Amino acid sequence: MKVLKFGGTSVGSPERIRNVASLIMPGNRNVVVLSAMSGTTNSLVEIAEYLYKGNIPGAQETLNGLRSKYEGVVVELLATEESRRSATGAIERSFGLVRAFLSEPITEAGEKEILAQGELMSTALMQAYLTEQGVRSELLPALDYMRTLESGEPDMVHIQSRLRRLIDLAPDADVFLTQGYICRNDHGGIDNLKRGGSDYTASIIGAVLDAEEIQIWTDIDGMHNNDPRFVEGTRPVGKLHFEEAAELAYFGAKILHPSCVLPAKLHNIPVRLLNTMQPETPGTLICNTTPDGSLKAIAAKDNITAVKIKSGRMLLAYGFLHKVFETFENYRTSIDMMATSEVGVSVTVDDDSRLAAIIDDLKHFGTVSVDRDMVIICVVGDLQWEECSFQSQVLEALEGIPVRMISYGGSNYNISVLVRRDDKVRALKALSNKLFK
Ligand code: ADP
Ligand code: ASP
Ligand code: MG
Repeated sequence: MKVLKFGGTSVGSPERIRNVASLIMPGNRNVVVLSAMSGTTNSLVEIAEYLYKGNIPGAQETLNGLRSKYEGVVVELLATEESRRSATGAIERSFGLVRAFLSEPITEAGEKEILAQGELMSTALMQAYLTEQGVRSELLPALDYMRTLESGEPDMVHIQSRLRRLIDLAPDADVFLTQGYICRNDHGGIDNLKRGGSDYTASIIGAVLDAEEIQIWTDIDGMHNNDPRFVEGTRPVGKLHFEEAAELAYFGAKILHPSCVLPAKLHNIPVRLLNTMQPETPGTLICNTTPDGSLKAIAAKDNITAVKIKSGRMLLAYGFLHKVFETFENYRTSIDMMATSEVGVSVTVDDDSRLAAIIDDLKHFGTVSVDRDMVIICVVGDLQWEECSFQSQVLEALEGIPVRMISYGGSNYNISVLVRRDDKVRALKALSNKLFK
């Protein structure tokens, strides 16, 4: 049994939905995880934003636009009256639910419910289409098994027992369909696994069902060696170690949700990144085979803030770093990158929502300065420290670009540098030219 996840573009039109149906290999009882059709979650986010601002006509207009799009999809995708009726029923339920929020004050819980409708609609459309094609598909409602703990982590024990039971209840199903992204929180309320979270859903399901493989089907032929949105001539990487993929996903390679690698890695389930538009291309295989000593790929993480704490008393003192880290911990803010010297320490964070309070507290221990609008550029591969050429290649490539911080040695899989936002694309291109040409 495999888990196959199809992203927004892959189910973005009636033609693409038909194409997905041709890839799911019914009969193997695979679990197919679907995202919302492309653009839908963005429109739902927009509706919630209008509602928070009290702009009801704005919300209504976006809602109407989305609704007519889905009406068109039903007609174009489905041929029989019966399947059109069943799909329309599901879609009208979703729009009815969103519409109800036009006349009541929006809350965070309401917003989460609105955001959940995209995946509920795409799975309903797919199920109606599969039924029309004679495929026996069983819908596994994510809200009936996918649950997070108070910590926000998935409740793996609950998910495993509920999901196995739902699957056992459908012995005749050729294929299972489920919604990516959506879940319930520890209070039982509708929630989600953060934007791009359908990849995470697929990985969690693969782990709890001990799947043979997790396939992430998207609009590109695997993990490229640099961000194709900013650099021309990038190429897919054939194979990545779990650790390498985790570094790339965490440091900005949008093709994978940052949390998606961990469940697969812990259960040693290979992850394959594949292209729905070119299903015959090999894509990228992520597994735990020994890495091969090469540089694999470059990624960039935006919106980083660097904080420097300088202290005259750090010289020969112990406990200074502890106090600094404790301050960030007190405000539940995680640190991405750090660099130390005898007189101070620099750290970076991507969540600056509690930074004012953090800085206030840090001022007890030293002088604090902040650099905003920074970007972490991360070079990933099997970078053993005895192999001395890669550090110099990275630094040579960045000649002429101001580098605020450098970090290597936390793992043998990455070397990271912090640059200004305005230098990001220049740095990505320079690194590709030096490392991969
Ligand atoms: P999906 O909707 O299928 O989840 P995403 O848009 O989330 O797809 O992810 C695929 C996109 O990730 C690609 O279209 C590409 O623009 C972007 N991307 C960023 N970095 C990389 C990379 N290193 N390799 C491949 N794709 C990348
Ligand atoms: N539909 C959600 C989003 O757009 C989840 C996903 O696509 O993975 O973020
Ligand atoms: Mg995605």
